[in-house]
Amino acid sequence: MLEKLREEVCAGNRELPANGLVVGTGGNVSGRDPDSGIVVIKPSGVSFDQLEPSSMVAVDSEGRVLEGDLKPSVDLGIHLYIYRHRPDVFGVVHTHSPYATSFAVRGEDLPAALTPLTHLIGSGVPCTRWATPAADDTGAAIIEAVGDSGLAAVVARHGVFTMGRSASEALKVALHVEEAALTIRMAQLSGPVTALPDEEIKRCFAWYRESYGQ
Ligand SMILES: [Zn+2]
Repeated sequence: MLEKLREEVCAGNRELPANGLVVGTGGNVSGRDPDSGIVVIKPSGVSFDQLEPSSMVAVDSEGRVLEGDLKPSVDLGIHLYIYRHRPDVFGVVHTHSPYATSFAVRGEDLPAALTPLTHLIGSGVPCTRWATPAADDTGAAIIEAVGDSGLAAVVARHGVFTMGRSASEALKVALHVEEAALTIRMAQLSGPVTALPDEEIKRCFAWYRESYGQ
């Protein structure tokens, strides 16, 4: 069942430690099948290097396990909350990547200061209110922060959630959020960092969506 989605979600999860976005078994990637609405997610507490497409857990929109012997990630409820409230989202990534989380720990938004990230998501990255970890409350805080079109948020004192039209796109956003956070933190050593003008962000975001890639 959903072989392609299992492969994409497994590969996405393996990219998290490979890119320094997580340590241990923290962090998770999921994807939603557009036809059936079935969500495929990393199993709970399994090392990234032991993950196989067959060990991904398939659940329905209520979180009932449809296939697989393993328990789903403890963050499944947050992923499902996001999918329920964002019909345009088909992939979700969660990490505690340290530079982006340094904004979360201070309750700061990442300013929309750099073209690579603003081209990709069309905004800065808001920081949510404090929310109870691994509960619907975190999902609600993320949706409050991103609204009906935002693709990334840092969750206060916790970490990063990104979204995309696929698991692969959500992963790409997570990588760019961490790169932007690192660059902004380095730039802030020499003084304040300002956001690009809104109209430029909107123009470049539209251009990128229409023009980038094959
Ligand atoms: Zn977490």
